[in-house]
Formats: sequence, structure tokens, C-alpha cells
Amino acid sequence: MSYRHALVVALLAGAAPVVASAQQTSSQAQATEGAWRDKAAPAVERARALVKAMTRAEKLAYVHGLFPPMTKERHADMIPSAGYVPGVPRLGIPTLRESDASLGVANQVEQRKGDTATALPSSLATAASFDPAIAYAGGAMIGAEARAKTFNVLLAGGVNLTRDAWNGRNFEYLGEDPLLAGIMAGASIRGVESQHIVSTVKHYALNAQETGRNILDARIDEKALRESDLLAFKIAIDGGRPGSVMCAYNKVNGDYSCENRFLLTQVLRDEWRYPGFVMSDWGGVHSTEKAALAGLDQESGQELDKQIYFGKPLADAIASGRVPEARLDEMVTRILTGVIASGLYDDPTPATAQAIDYAAHADVAQRAAEAGIVLLKNDRDVLPLAATARRIVLIGGHADVGVLSGGGSSQVRSVGGAPIEIPLTKGAAASFARITYHASSPLRAMRALAPGAQVTFVDGRDLAAAAAAAKSADIAIVFATQWQTEAQDATSLSLPDNQDALIAAVAKANPRSVVVLETGGPVLMPWADQVAGIVQAWYPGQRGGEAIARVLLGQVDASGRLPISFPVRAAQLPRPNPVLPAGVTALTDASSNAGVVDTGDLAPFPVDYSEGSNVGYRWYAARGDRPLYPFGYGLSYTRFRFGDARFTGGAAPAVEVAVTNIGKRQGVIVPQLYLTGTGQGPMRLAGFQRVSLAPGETKTLAIPVDPRILSRWTAGRGWAIAPGRYRLTLATDAQSPVANGEVSVAAEAQSPG
Ligand code: BGC
Repeated sequence: MSYRHALVVALLAGAAPVVASAQQTSSQAQATEGAWRDKAAPAVERARALVKAMTRAEKLAYVHGLFPPMTKERHADMIPSAGYVPGVPRLGIPTLRESDASLGVANQVEQRKGDTATALPSSLATAASFDPAIAYAGGAMIGAEARAKTFNVLLAGGVNLTRDAWNGRNFEYLGEDPLLAGIMAGASIRGVESQHIVSTVKHYALNAQETGRNILDARIDEKALRESDLLAFKIAIDGGRPGSVMCAYNKVNGDYSCENRFLLTQVLRDEWRYPGFVMSDWGGVHSTEKAALAGLDQESGQELDKQIYFGKPLADAIASGRVPEARLDEMVTRILTGVIASGLYDDPTPATAQAIDYAAHADVAQRAAEAGIVLLKNDRDVLPLAATARRIVLIGGHADVGVLSGGGSSQVRSVGGAPIEIPLTKGAAASFARITYHASSPLRAMRALAPGAQVTFVDGRDLAAAAAAAKSADIAIVFATQWQTEAQDATSLSLPDNQDALIAAVAKANPRSVVVLETGGPVLMPWADQVAGIVQAWYPGQRGGEAIARVLLGQVDASGRLPISFPVRAAQLPRPNPVLPAGVTALTDASSNAGVVDTGDLAPFPVDYSEGSNVGYRWYAARGDRPLYPFGYGLSYTRFRFGDARFTGGAAPAVEVAVTNIGKRQGVIVPQLYLTGTGQGPMRLAGFQRVSLAPGETKTLAIPVDPRILSRWTAGRGWAIAPGRYRLTLATDAQSPVANGEVSVAAEAQSPG
């Protein structure tokens, strides 16, 4: 039984009952007030003092956690969520109560019993806002909800780069660029931790495909890894200071991430001086000594591993000296450093659930959705819908009842419930994921916001009926969906269920046709030339219907920009399809299951990331190729004019430019600064700024080059910024330059390492 299956079983069985409280026993029950109480002292000092006051048994108990839906242990305060680690009350060390994650408090077992939570749009939607304040607000909102539900560790902060358009978890990540993803993840984590709970950043590292995730070996050159995925983690850690880092399922260059000395000790601990703790992904531990000595501090979801490696085997390894006692102390010190630095130690979570202002939280979700919706095409200004569009037909995508969400551990059952919930019968995610819609109906929202119009709906299953409805309307809006989930990858980038044909039929019937996409990431659009408008709404969260309606009607600008390139065809990508384990010929093959135990019989297999750090737009640039829609792209309902750009060099290179809204509506522009110099490899995003301007308004922006993007890593030397001439490009997306400049850069600058 896979772990997710266990979750469903626990749910069906009424979920893990809570019967008795674990008694804390300790020979040091009378421990005197210690240095750990000094709030002014550095977190690590306080953590060390606590560790000194702990017994060995207490320390050993804090380095492995339960998976509540499967554990046989009983604790009075255990919620059947993702994780539970009993604390040490006599020292004020909190019990860790863990829940997923970035899109809202995803506590699936309880949620099916009615404990709903606020669902943000997908992380890709948040990334599309290019606005750290949106990410922060989302993080603070879910942090507050988690705390009110008595959780104190959120398994948030997914920052794996979206290397492959078909990756099932792209919707949980923040796009293909290390600077954008790192800044947005950092802001979201900082928001979570503003509520004095621990956030993770995950999945460290290179968990870029779901197929065979427990056995695949991600292979990549060290320099490329450091300048891409690791850079995103570093920037996220700098900005968010998460209490914990979650190591990934997969191997990286031969070693499992959770026993990978290079990742956990050399880079994270020694070079980055990261002070918090490394927790494993659920079912991601494969050894005791190797993992402990490589830098894993806590085994999560222990029931999912082949054995509880950090239980008795670790005690034995310490007793026999195979793992030094000092390493155990260090593990606990790092856990407690994360707990103290996040504010959790001094401000423990309430013992019982608190009231939540769901209306205010829904507004946070709606603002994020609105800020992330991307207008990809708008011929003849078909959008925003003019007051003259009296008859509007919405077609398909269950737009009458709700909006789609992504599946897996991040799935939130949102306030308002799920108008559609479809269990899967096959595929790697079948044991735990369900196709779920949030109760936010675009149809209802359109009717409420455009009372003068006649807004109707047809479900789109009958192409002829859909075309007829489109023909008799002033405008036809097709809602196209692609469901994605953790544990499986898309078998094709084409829209499923004959939706391409539906769109083509509608477009033929009415030239004023618009497609609204609710997808995990990029899909192929063979009909792009036939429709007048295309709106990328991602998975827009529990206020997605309202957000889409407001954008379509022009009540807010279409203001998102793509955080991930959209290909014309799959063959343009470094890997057109997921890489399969040896002997597996198709993704529907049962042995391609990505569940924890299901891959047990399959041999590890390599996935070569030979594109290295040339991820996304850099891949296209390196090959002189063009995607359908580039990274950073998105239209606005207004128009802008740039003044002369002034590029400066020295120790802090930057561009300064005035931008004016020359249209008639308030609008948003996201100027981007790229490093494009010859000899620098393909272009790199070096800075960006989202700015909102009223009609006629001008703002002068100063966008600095982030020194972590200027810096290069070389073996033996580490990170350094080479002094010299650099070419900078101000642009509105990765393919639309506004101005170029050449600057001299000084040698002194910080580096990411
Ligand atoms: C996922 C993690 C998640 C954990 C706990 C794993 O399957 O990869 O992202 O935090 O489960 O639910």
C-alpha cells in the first residue's frame, strides 16, 4: 500500500482516532531555567543550550517524525495530517505538527470531513504576478490559517525549476528562472514565517520530473546545477530564511538527495552556512549512517520508509560510535534553531483551533489570482468585453460550477467545498489524488459582474451544439482545462478530451472567440491563430471564477507575465516527454507508478539534464529558437511608453528608465532586465519590477542587476564576478527588447555561495 493509499484508507476508516497522550518522561524533569530562554541570544546559541538540557532519548525522539494516517502511535493532539513529531514539554520544545503547503492548508483527511481551508491559485499563477508582495501575502495568509488550525510547520516553499513543461508538479513551483523563482519563494516563505511557524523550502534538489521520482538519478554538471536549481534555492533561502529544507525523493549525481553529502553538507551547511534543519521528503530516506553523516537532520513520515532509519538503527549507530554523538546533537540543534528562529519557540501555536477570517483570506486568494492571469492574445481588442457584448456564451471546463485545481499533497479542499471531485482509477496518482474543482463559478461571477449581459453556458461535450451556441452569441469564451497532479507527469502537452477540436469548432463559428486556459502549465495551442483571445488563468484558486470574470470584463488589468515559456511543439523542448525507467515503455504502464513502494522493483534510471543551466528561455536563446509565447510575456489592456534607458555599471549595475501609461486605463507593466552580453552564455534575468500606472501617469524605475546573477561559479574558485564589460537589455519579455546598454562592472560584489 502506498502512503497516499494509506491516507485514503485512513480517511475512509474515519481517520486516525486520537486516544491517549504520550507521557514525557525525563531524568532531567527539574531542569533549571536555561540560557535558551534569553530571547536576545542568537537562535543557534539558544538551541545549543536546549540540546545540553535534553536527554539522549529526547534527542533521538526529535529526529524522526510520524506519518499520522499510518502510525500506530496514539497522541491526544495528533491531527491525521502530513507529520507529527512529539515535543519535550518540560523544556518548551514544541510538538511539530506538519501540514502541506504552498497553496493553502492542505489537510486532506480532515478536509473531507469538512475542515476546509482557503485555496490560493497555483504557485505558477503567483509567480506570474512577478510581485513578491503577492507571494508574501499568500504565505502570510496560509501561515495564519495553519496556526489557527494548530499546525506549526508548513511544508511550503516549492522552488524546483520548471525544466519540463509536462512535469506534473509544475503548478506547485514558481517557474523556470532562478531569480524569479527564488525571490517569489523567499517572499512566500517569509510570509509563512511571519506567523511564527516553520516553513520549508523544497524539494532539494532537482526533483524536476514525477515519473519514477523515487528512483531516478538526476544527472547534471556541477557548475550548471549551481547556476540554476541550487541558485533558486539559495535566493529563496536568503529571502525567506526558512526554518527547514526538505530534501527530495530523487538521486542527484548518484546519491539520494536525503543522503547526498554534496547537497546537504558541502553546499547547504558549509558554503551557504544555512543554520536550520534538513527534513526528508515522505518516504525519501534510504539509510541511517549515510543519511545522518551526509547532513539529514530529521526523518519525516517514518512509516513510509522501509524502516525507521532514525529510530533504533540511529540509536545503535550512536551507541557503537558509527555516528558520533556530536552529530546527533548537531541534528537536534539545527531543528531547534529553525524552531527558534521562526518565532515558534517563543510564540507557540494555540492548543485548540481558532477562528479564521475566511472572507479576508478569500480576498488574498482573489488578488493573487487576478495578479497572475496572463493575457496571451488579444486581437482587435476582443478583451476586455465591451458593454456592447450583450450575449456571452461560456463553453466547457465546468465553468458553470467552478475552477480546476491541481492534485496531490498540495491539494486544498477549499471553503465552499468541491462541486466536482473525481477519483482516479488508474495512473501513479490514483491512490491519493482526485480531480477537484473549487466552488468558484465563472458563470455566476460573470452574471453578477455584468448584469446587463445575457450570459449562458453550454458544457462543450457536443461540438455542434457548442458551435451553434457560439454562432448565436456576440462572444464565445471556451474554458479549456488540463489536470495535473503530483506523482505523475502529463503524457502529452495537448489539451485532453477533444478540447482542441471544441476550440476549433467554436472559433470557426464565431470570430470573436476567446480561450481561457485552466492548466498546470504550458499546453500546445494548435488553434492559437484561429481564436481572437487567449487568457492563461492557471489553476486560479478558490476565487478563480471571480478573478477570471474581473479580468475578462476589464475591472482589473490583465497583469500577469509568463514565468515559464510556452512551446509551439513538444519537439522544441530538451525532453519532449518524461524519461522512463528501463523496461517501461509507456506512462500508462503500471510500473511507471511513482508511489513510494510501487517503484520498488524497478532499477534506478538516469535523467540527464544535459541542457544544464540553460533552462526555459535560455534553452531557446542558446538554440536561436522561438517558443509560442516567451518567458516574461503578457499583454495589458493599456499601452506604455518607455523613456530613454540609462544603464550604469560600477559596483551596482542597474538600469533607470521612465515608463508612462499612454492608454486610457489603469494598467500594469513588468519591465525586465536581462544580462545578454556575449561571452556570458545565453541571456539571464537579472532584475524585474512590477509597476501599476494610472492613465497618463509616469514612474521612473531603477532596476538593479542582482549580483547573484552576475556571479559565475568555477571549479576550484567558487563564485566570482568577473570585472569587465557587460551587455544589459531592458525588455518586456525574454524576446522583446526595449533598450540595450553596455556597462563596466567592478570586481567587488557578493556571491551566492
Ligand atoms: C511530497 C511533499 C509533501 C509530503 C508530505 C510528499 O509526497 O513530495 O511535497 O510535503 O509528501 O505530504
